[in-house]
Amino acid sequence: MRRFIVASQEIVRDRVQIRGPEFHHLKHVLRLAVGATVEVCDEHGTAYQGVIRGIAHDAAEVALTQGTAAEPRSFRLTLAQSVLKRPAMDLVMEKTTELGVHAIVPFVSERTVARIPPEKYAERTARWQRIAHAAAKQSGSPPPTIHPPVSLSEALRDMPENARKILFWEGEDGLHIKRFARTERDCRSLYVMVGPEGGFATHEVEAARRTGFVSVSLGGTVLRAETASLAAVSVCRFLWGDVLFLPLP
Ligand code: SAM
Repeated sequence: MRRFIVASQEIVRDRVQIRGPEFHHLKHVLRLAVGATVEVCDEHGTAYQGVIRGIAHDAAEVALTQGTAAEPRSFRLTLAQSVLKRPAMDLVMEKTTELGVHAIVPFVSERTVARIPPEKYAERTARWQRIAHAAAKQSGSPPPTIHPPVSLSEALRDMPENARKILFWEGEDGLHIKRFARTERDCRSLYVMVGPEGGFATHEVEAARRTGFVSVSLGGTVLRAETASLAAVSVCRFLWGDVLFLPLP
């Protein structure tokens, strides 16, 4: 996979310097040399063909040729995900990226089990972003934006007023996601929220409802948090359609 992800501001005219983990992959894993052809993608999903023009000890210079803008996303899905224990959170970052999530907002709520010291937030967010970049390279989907962790109340406060918001809750026994979808056929921007291993406290569900979230069920079984996240993103992508899935008939 000769595909490398860079920040769009790193691209100056038709050149870009590939550094950091992407440079390590280019030089030490793929062992690419000057003259090799590569694909470079930015955070918007624009893909450029390029040729390596120089390799120094910490960066490679690539001359870019034509860029192909990514299909504009007809459906933007943001996942507000309670911070989970490391392996489960890594899995959510990787798999929801492959499934085309647009952004991930990690949050800490009352029953969040995995407690990351705030001074470690930047380091952990960078790790999650690397996992998402690697998954985006492999799947060909634009890399999602991974936000630093916030509290549940901050996540609820920062959600845009006009987006549709779904809180996936195993305690919801009235509204199944399939029935919700029938009333929301034309949904272009969706925020979905999935709780921690310990679940949501009732007052947290009520607070989310006050900010416009609708609580829905994924069915009668209680799923592990990471299972619920993958199921929620897959079901939403299927129901509201996108280049990968057929829209509702
Ligand atoms: N309260 C659960 C228990 O008693 O084991 C623990 C929460 S569950 C492991 C983790 C998260 O997955 C929940 O907060 C919810 O967001 C989601 N979830 C699990 N099963 C679900 C279902 N059937 N419908 C909707 N969401 C579900």
